[in-house]
Amino acid sequence: MLKPETEIQFLQGVGPKIAPKLQKLGIFSVKNLLNHYPRRYEDYSYPTPIKNLRIKETSTVKGIISEIFAERTSRKKMHITSIMVEDDTGEISALWFNQPYLAKTFQIGQTIIFRGKVEYNFNTGKKYFSSPNIESELAIFPIYPETAGLSSRYIRKLEKNASPAIELLKDDLSDVVREKEKLLAIEQTLNYIHFPKNFDQINEAKRRLAFSELFGIIIKYLYLRKSLKNNPAPKIEVDEEFLKKFVASLPYKLTDSQRKSGWEIIQDISGSSPMNRMLEGDVGSGKTIVAALAAASAIHKGYQVCWMAPTSILAMQHYQNLEQILSKFNFKIGLLTGHKKINFQDADLVIGTHALISGKHQFPRLGLIIVDEQHRFGVDQRQKLKEMSDIVPHFLSLTATPIPRSLTLSLYGDLDISHLSEVPKGRQKIDTRILKKNDAKEAYNLIAQEIQKGHQAYLICPLIEKTKDDQDNLFFELDEKKTVKKEFERIKSDVFPNLRIGMLHGKMKSNDKDTIMQDFNDHKIDILVSTAVVEVGIDVKNATVMMIEGAENFGLAQLHQLRGRVGRGEDKSYCLLMPQKFDAENNARLEALLEASDGFELAEKDLELRGPGEFLGVKQSGLSSLKIASLSDKIMISSVRKRAEEIMETLDQYPDLQKELAEYVIGKHLE
Ligand code: ADP
Ligand code: MG
Repeated sequence: MLKPETEIQFLQGVGPKIAPKLQKLGIFSVKNLLNHYPRRYEDYSYPTPIKNLRIKETSTVKGIISEIFAERTSRKKMHITSIMVEDDTGEISALWFNQPYLAKTFQIGQTIIFRGKVEYNFNTGKKYFSSPNIESELAIFPIYPETAGLSSRYIRKLEKNASPAIELLKDDLSDVVREKEKLLAIEQTLNYIHFPKNFDQINEAKRRLAFSELFGIIIKYLYLRKSLKNNPAPKIEVDEEFLKKFVASLPYKLTDSQRKSGWEIIQDISGSSPMNRMLEGDVGSGKTIVAALAAASAIHKGYQVCWMAPTSILAMQHYQNLEQILSKFNFKIGLLTGHKKINFQDADLVIGTHALISGKHQFPRLGLIIVDEQHRFGVDQRQKLKEMSDIVPHFLSLTATPIPRSLTLSLYGDLDISHLSEVPKGRQKIDTRILKKNDAKEAYNLIAQEIQKGHQAYLICPLIEKTKDDQDNLFFELDEKKTVKKEFERIKSDVFPNLRIGMLHGKMKSNDKDTIMQDFNDHKIDILVSTAVVEVGIDVKNATVMMIEGAENFGLAQLHQLRGRVGRGEDKSYCLLMPQKFDAENNARLEALLEASDGFELAEKDLELRGPGEFLGVKQSGLSSLKIASLSDKIMISSVRKRAEEIMETLDQYPDLQKELAEYVIGKHLE
């Protein structure tokens, strides 16, 4: 008997050959398959009368085959199968390449349904279809995200085979919530999403699924917060004398907002319940030092601090900078990344990457956890960080481009926020320009000029190199996208043969990355050709030009982060956006970057223009698992939140949910 838990290879139609392909899609059980939703739907339910077909429009035709031809062209050795199809209004031809078996499946007089784009043959002056999809009935067809060798057609068949298990699925939304929100039960939902009769059904099912997805996330946040609030936290007493000394030891004066935020944090960690605070401030606003102030305060009182960065490059940079600042007070700093370990065992401050939460290390005196650029970490990882100690440490996250504020508020609710509203004095607005492809000269001149003045430049490309697949694909659209490897060679030999050029990308060995970054930092490199790995956090004050090839490939928030790599000192800096494809939509996006200089404003704009799935922040925030829900649906988010809060109040009545949440929180459920 088919159950939701049945392993996927035992489903009819799967077997040992297909199973690995499904597993690649994250489908291990029948339930997983049922939760694999169509990406979109194609509507075959209305055929277009042949007479009304219009060139370039995608249309469905239903007609009778009146002629069949199969030929082999002599020149290119191609098989062409073509048919003539008629309905009451006219006739049209359709052809397929290199599918000789098709001719055998066609019969004159047979009714056929197909769908595709209407083409126009200039020689004959007639419309025709080229390789349209042949379908068996007029209906709405779900199109699934596909993987090599698994067509939507095939997945559709498997969904059918799996459908008897639908009625055995447990509904993850309680009846109460469903009734209040007028949402479908899970059984109906899945039937509608995979086998819809009309678009109303699809929309109803989507609404229900979106609601559950958001509910699942929000209820976790609420539970986590509640369970943490009840824990005692280390009381890190405020020592004003010490803090004054610390601030005085810095090479610059703190801005007013840095002082204010620092003070808020220090007050908060002196309390007896665990702080959960986000320090937000635009790129370059100086978040690092505010966090360092809190770290120093904790270390001074005998606690350890863990500081987690999203990349090893950034961890290394923090290690070097903070070492300079903190060693004056005899605080011991350690580093723990996948490939470098320095004194982390007995360090007061351990800076690291994900390696920190590998589970191998314990930090028994842990008083404060700092997570830099928190949008890159999921909730689960935060939870894991919190588990590395006996007490519940305070938690501070630093971010420049979070999920837009409207979302932060509705999702994280009463997370405490400190905000840096200004950047340090003396900074100039970054001169941002959009340059056309043939204006590369202008960009190179500007780079040359800046380097002459003793400055440095970044040159960002969207790709590292072309993969084999890309090269094999004749119509490789990315052909135009610049790759780091090629640009590096080109810049070095053709454009700036006399300058020192470096290359950096994510596939390099960690040690090599560190060396290159160090060389750039030490000004042994003039131009760094890189992927977006330098996107967050990197702080090289002497760099004044950020040139971005194929700028349209990046999200606004990401571009803003990249731009933030320059203008970190007092010198005038430039950001040169070089879109490869110039169309109205890209243009509108890039222009938003010229106007707005605030990361939050841009995040909202990005959400508006590109939708939430695509912009940086959401992907990495633990919200990436959303398949259907739209983060821009503020109304839904707020009703989800309301219902989740109600359920939290009466959680005792939902033992299953309670158990699941408790498991999640004690970390058994880490994904
Ligand atoms: P972000 O907020 O992007 O993380 P950083 O903390 O890296 O910014 O700071 C950006 C640069 O500004 C660093 O080089 C830092 O040393 C410098 N900085 C921070 N605070 C001040 C200040 N009050 N005055 C001058 N420079 C500062
Ligand atoms: Mg930073």
